[in-house]
Amino acid sequence: MARIVMKFGGTSVADLDRIRNVARRVKAEVDAGHEVAVVVSAMAGVTNQLVGYCQSLSPLFDAREYDAVVATGEQVTAGLTAIALQELGQEARSWQGWQIAIETDGQHGKARIEGIEGDELIERMKIGQVPVIAGFQGIGPDNRVTTLGRGGSDTSAVAVAAAIKADRCDIYTDVDGIYTTDPRIVPGAKKLSKIAYEEMLELASVGAKVLQTRSVELAMKERVRVQVLSSFSDEPGTLVVDEDEVVEQEIVAGIAYSRDEAKLTVRRVPDRPGIAAAVFGPLADASINVDMIVQNVSADGTTDMTFTVGKTDFARAKQVLENARAEIGYAEITADQNVAKISVVGVGMRSHAGVAGTMFKTLAERGINIQVITTSEIKVSVLVAAEYTELAVRALHTAYQLDA
Ligand code: ADP
Ligand code: ASP
Ligand code: MG
Repeated sequence: MARIVMKFGGTSVADLDRIRNVARRVKAEVDAGHEVAVVVSAMAGVTNQLVGYCQSLSPLFDAREYDAVVATGEQVTAGLTAIALQELGQEARSWQGWQIAIETDGQHGKARIEGIEGDELIERMKIGQVPVIAGFQGIGPDNRVTTLGRGGSDTSAVAVAAAIKADRCDIYTDVDGIYTTDPRIVPGAKKLSKIAYEEMLELASVGAKVLQTRSVELAMKERVRVQVLSSFSDEPGTLVVDEDEVVEQEIVAGIAYSRDEAKLTVRRVPDRPGIAAAVFGPLADASINVDMIVQNVSADGTTDMTFTVGKTDFARAKQVLENARAEIGYAEITADQNVAKISVVGVGMRSHAGVAGTMFKTLAERGINIQVITTSEIKVSVLVAAEYTELAVRALHTAYQLDA
């Protein structure tokens, strides 16, 4: 007998038939003798719609009210899944974040889980009841509903798995595992049977949305065994494991892309000590994450600074910089939202040279201009015009010999 968390994403609970399918899968595990806790996302499309409502009313909406709105999607599917289970004769009850409680910090819209009370859930499972937990949501120190950032139900699932000491956390989604790149962009992408935590963490952080970055971070830290698999088939999925458990380690494990970033350039800032702090300090104070950064060489005592922020923070970032104009002393800000970040990731990069070179050469051969470059120990990222996303990912997938 094992204790399992089963998490179902938006497409897996997109309508009542699919919720019935989820209930059948859960009951099958219970019937096989396992203790099961379920975590659900909102129905596909619902969170986008709720976010859209908030943005339509106010572009600079109150993040606490945003959370009150967008957390409702998961409340609906948790209740419906519990009903579907009961219909099959399986005892079940829904749990909202605050009822458990899933305690988070107070960063509304991107809260971090700080603690989960797991005892009650364990008690319920022991008497044969299936807890169905609303993913994506928690309760903040201000006693208000928080949400965990887009894709956050993955993190709810891993955090619950850690809290109830589950043997496994199965993430059911609309693809049957983790691939060398998004199989929707490259049909010839290869399914991986195993991937190292570190590689998955890096892939997630640069845009492979199959798992939310924090879920991987948490799984790594809490030693939760995560498996990604499809709720529509019985194919074996992909296990996220320690590096030394991956037998056939390639130099490049995968390629990811993100169209979620926007580029800002602050032009003709005085080239003096402290200027980077003057630009990025106010952004940090406004909790805006900056990702890629380049600073040009200085000519005539001024320089240009280019960097990227999440598209959702774009309007605020511009505003913050405009407010700080007198202190920074720049000539103008230019912006481009029509960009994509393409990244190649692999632990093999630590010991093999030439990965970045292959990337630059491959993009050059396709006439794709590179705007910004960043690297880490196991990753190279470039920013390119958004219209080249598919072309770049496909070309790189072939160049690194990842095609199936
Ligand atoms: P869910 O709603 O189940 O959480 P998501 O849409 O968040 O599903 O994540 C699954 C999607 O992630 C897939 O449909 C796929 O398009 C995308 N994806 C991106 N990169 C990868 C990858 N390397 N492997 C598998 N899927 C990927
Ligand atoms: N429903 C939320 C979202 O769409 C959380 C999730 O699906 O993981 O971002
Ligand atoms: Mg997701």
